[in-house]
Amino acid sequence: MPAIPPVRVSARGANRLRGGHVWVYRSDLLSSAGIPPAALVQVVDPTGKSLGTALYSSSSQIAIRLISNRPVADLPGLVRERIRNALAYRELVVHNSDAFRVIFSEADLLPGLIVDLYNDVLSLQILTQAMDSEAMRETLASELQNQFQPAGIVERVDARVRELEQLPARQSALISGEKSSTVFTMNGVKFHYAALEGQKTGSFLDQRENYAAAAQYAHGEALDVFCYHGGFALHLAPKCSQVTGVDSSRPALEVADENARLNTREIEWIEANAFDLLKDYSGAGRQYDTIVLDPPAFAKTRKNVDTALRGYKELNLRALKMLRPGGILVTCTCSYHVTQPDFLSTISEAAVDAHRILRILEVRTQAKDHPVLLDVPETSYLKCVICHVSS
Ligand code: SAH
Repeated sequence: MPAIPPVRVSARGANRLRGGHVWVYRSDLLSSAGIPPAALVQVVDPTGKSLGTALYSSSSQIAIRLISNRPVADLPGLVRERIRNALAYRELVVHNSDAFRVIFSEADLLPGLIVDLYNDVLSLQILTQAMDSEAMRETLASELQNQFQPAGIVERVDARVRELEQLPARQSALISGEKSSTVFTMNGVKFHYAALEGQKTGSFLDQRENYAAAAQYAHGEALDVFCYHGGFALHLAPKCSQVTGVDSSRPALEVADENARLNTREIEWIEANAFDLLKDYSGAGRQYDTIVLDPPAFAKTRKNVDTALRGYKELNLRALKMLRPGGILVTCTCSYHVTQPDFLSTISEAAVDAHRILRILEVRTQAKDHPVLLDVPETSYLKCVICHVSS
């Protein structure tokens, strides 16, 4: 077996790893000359002491992603074990759903790999050079095949990620089996899934537990803003007298409508810019009993957190003005850079401006199949706050 090349990291990089994080930035590498892309490397501190084994990227700012704090003699064996462990963890935390995230990258100690299961179809995303190697792809495909016997495995490609990792362009495609679309069920609600259509990840599995939580309190007339395929709307429908979903994407609403039919639910879908619609509706004095706000990530980087918070405040302010006394607000942010305290104070400012009193029913996060690794804060991104609103 070829020797594993050492990469020396600065004291700062070493401290980061010793603190439990798994990344070292390129600026913290002391030596990386001659290390090929995708290499398995041994990470050493400035004195030469080993810190573990990592996957190397020659282009990303995150140059090192630790895969083990020990020497690794058999990478395919380790990857297979990690997949089995990830699955065992899901058996513990996923209930009442045949769709869940099987592997969440760093949070499952398989950095650069995301795998979602939708009933009998697996969707795989590769985000780093090391996960893209032919040998790694073979290991992943064969272990996933063994564990799930899926009717199809689809690779979903994010072109921008491949460019950043300096990987050759690739199309999203079926890589094994024959099936790329299916119907899955979570919390008793059915959804269409078509892996080779739709936005980025195809479906928002991370809200699975929040759908069920929101449904516990929902009542009366409900508005699901940024509804996509209708995840919240469909969960609220059995509890509410009327449900309206709003999204700016017509293709998303077409799937939402098919989902409503699949569940024999009557839901009104409106194609609109949510900011405009909320302004018009609140201006016109419209009232609801339950409002869900689940916008896309407004803060993609730390730099635009302030602008993002202004966006969240506007949405929440308008929604709060439209809620009847005793109403329920379900408000989310999936921006990692917007912290929970920042989000809560933004909601609080909106409540003060709207002259509403808020009682927090639940402060929630992503579903547990999207694990949060305690020492890797980047794995925690979704916040979902459920409030009781009175005046
Ligand atoms: N709540 C959804 C996920 C929402 S993802 C679920 O549980 O599945 C964010 C959605 O916001 C996307 O469907 C996108 O089309 C929509 N969107 C983005 N900008 C918008 C805007 N300005 N107005 C309305 N919808 C918007």
